[in-house]
Amino acid sequence: MSDVDNNVARCLCGGVTITAATVNPAFTVCHCDTCRTWGGGPLFAVQCGTDIQITGKDKLKEYDSSAWASRGFCSECGTHLFYHLKKTGEYNLPLGLFPQIDGLTMDMQYFSDKRPDHYCFSNETKSMTAAEIEAYFSSLA
Ligand SMILES: [Zn+2]
Ligand SMILES: [Zn+2]
Repeated sequence: MSDVDNNVARCLCGGVTITAATVNPAFTVCHCDTCRTWGGGPLFAVQCGTDIQITGKDKLKEYDSSAWASRGFCSECGTHLFYHLKKTGEYNLPLGLFPQIDGLTMDMQYFSDKRPDHYCFSNETKSMTAAEIEAYFSSLA
């Protein structure tokens, strides 16, 4: 049963819970301007695919942050809950919502060329610049 609990994300007030069927422990870090404005720093996120269950949808707000994605948060406590890709329907959730996941590794840094000079991570990771990400997403269209 603990496996199930490990995949349940709760906001600070408990008004919204998200159960993810799968959580990829190879997490990503995004340095883009939108993520850093949204959260005050880079976004650490785990990929949760499309199979998620949300309770407390009355408290959930979604903000259309770009043409390709929206961002969800709790309207009561403000906890950031997901980044939702419109085209694929995939959800990426903040890593901090899943403190119990085993085997977490920093796998990828997105928008590596947008990272400001005042911080950096020493982890050995793959990375993609803004141009590489644009090319990748337009190849999916
Ligand atoms: Zn909340
Ligand atoms: Zn970002």
